[in-house]
Amino acid sequence: MTKGNLFVISGPSGIGKDTVLTEILKLMGPEAFLSVSMTTRSPREGEENGKDYFFVTREEFEEKIKNNELLEYAEFVGNYYGTPISEIEKQRSLGHEVVLEIEVEGALQVREKIKDAIFIFIAPPSMDSLYHRLKNRGTEPDHIINQRIEKAKREIHTAYKYDYIVVNDTVDNASDRIMNIIRAEHAKTERCIHKYKKLLEVE
Ligand code: 5GP
Repeated sequence: MTKGNLFVISGPSGIGKDTVLTEILKLMGPEAFLSVSMTTRSPREGEENGKDYFFVTREEFEEKIKNNELLEYAEFVGNYYGTPISEIEKQRSLGHEVVLEIEVEGALQVREKIKDAIFIFIAPPSMDSLYHRLKNRGTEPDHIINQRIEKAKREIHTAYKYDYIVVNDTVDNASDRIMNIIRAEHAKTERCIHKYKKLLEVE
């Protein structure tokens, strides 16, 4: 069986990445697996432990780091975020597509460790639109919004290290562009040449 692709998706927080991801996962079908990250951030209203994140204490997180249980991790605006390693290889070896939604520092760690991963950066149409989205979301005080904006600027500077950049002007456009990337990756010769081996044997 062909191993499932690993897609790593990053982009400044607050640009509607989650909505785009929900849409993509719907389009990818039931066999796609969205990795659930671990974080020391407190849950926002409506967020569920084990579904949106595994919410843990700093001590618990540091224990996971020590035991090498994380594929990557980073500190983002005062909190740890990391990807539990256990499910990823398992899902890929079952042929399932795996999607990670992580910030850039963590993504660069994955780049070093998993050579065949595919990296997609979701960019806001402008910094203004990002500021207004964060402000309207109303989940963070101004000084945290400012830190997120500063982090977003640094993240956008890293976009050139990704394989693809997708502008999130509308959810439909961004999802459509990402689905085109996913389809193109499926058609890569090294991924589907085995399907044609039979054809060649007949000749
Ligand atoms: P939020 O607090 O808005 O849910 O997430 C803040 C940032 O952390 C987002 O940019 C998100 O992509 C990133 N993030 C979420 N999970 C992980 C993870 O497992 N590892 C890393 N490195 N970043 C993550």
